[in-house]
Amino acid sequence: MANIIDGKAVSARVKEEIAKETAAVKAKYGINIGLAVVIVGDDPASRIYVNNKKKACETVGFTSYEYALSAETTQEELLQLIDKLNKDDNVNGILVQLPLPKHLDEKAVINSISPEKDVDAFHPVNVGKIMIGEYSFLPCTPAGIMELITSTGVEIKGKECVVVGRSNIVGKPMSMLLLHQSGTVTICHSKTQDLAQHCRKADILVVAVGVPKLVSGDMIKEGAVVIDVGMNRLENGKLCGDVDFDSAKEKASFITPVPGGVGPMTIAMLMKNTLTAAKIKHGIE
Ligand code: NDP
Repeated sequence: MANIIDGKAVSARVKEEIAKETAAVKAKYGINIGLAVVIVGDDPASRIYVNNKKKACETVGFTSYEYALSAETTQEELLQLIDKLNKDDNVNGILVQLPLPKHLDEKAVINSISPEKDVDAFHPVNVGKIMIGEYSFLPCTPAGIMELITSTGVEIKGKECVVVGRSNIVGKPMSMLLLHQSGTVTICHSKTQDLAQHCRKADILVVAVGVPKLVSGDMIKEGAVVIDVGMNRLENGKLCGDVDFDSAKEKASFITPVPGGVGPMTIAMLMKNTLTAAKIKHGIE
């Protein structure tokens, strides 16, 4: 029977550390730390995420600046706002809540954010830095997962690590971080033949697919660490992961629940990146 990895508790600890460091930095250097959150349109899920990010800013002692733009905002207007935020000394981090309405070019918007303020770490400059292991920011979800794995005390070095999913925001950077920690990494995706066989090799299994209960207990090696990134909303309104928790917990040594596993970590790591951005700007070690 697996130990349940408590993402809420780890996230609270990370936010507490950030709050302490923020208070110390503010007191010593007399600076303010600011995160600008841009939301376009009125997608209810995006609204919840943005509110949670603002709340987290308050918790750790940052100033949050919200820019709620109408769904009709043009590309030009959005790029102008980002340009203004890039130049604004009060703003250390810029987050554009995705997805954007269809008429906007997401890639161009991400590329317009100054890499120094790109606290989501989606800008190609930051993606490239992750590849060569010389990064300032890590994308929030994979960074949060690394914290969760660390919290188990299980060492990554030399372990068989299998990542299911190869998206730019989760699967690919996740694989890179495990590789940087000297894991032996396999990346699986929708064209992988015999997914179960790959999963069964994993000492550390990270599943980021978006298919409810794709990975079941019989696909898991005895004693594996299982990280379920999936957040699938079922018809009954409940959230469900990509891993079948009930059967998987019988095989895993550690497993994340959904909700309460990876989810809470993402915002904590966003706060960490914003603090890092402010420290770099002010030359603080
Ligand atoms: P994407 O849809 O961008 O990527 C999904 C990946 O899964 C793709 O690489 C796809 O393969 C692969 N895949 C799809 N079906 C299968 C299958 N049957 N077998 C093997 N691989 C498959 O999703 P994201 O990475 O953005 O998100 C994944 C999940 O994580 C979602 O449920 C999302 O809601 C959740 N999520 C949770 C976050 C959190 O904070 N907890 C943050 C971000 C995401 P291919 O490339 O071949 O198409």
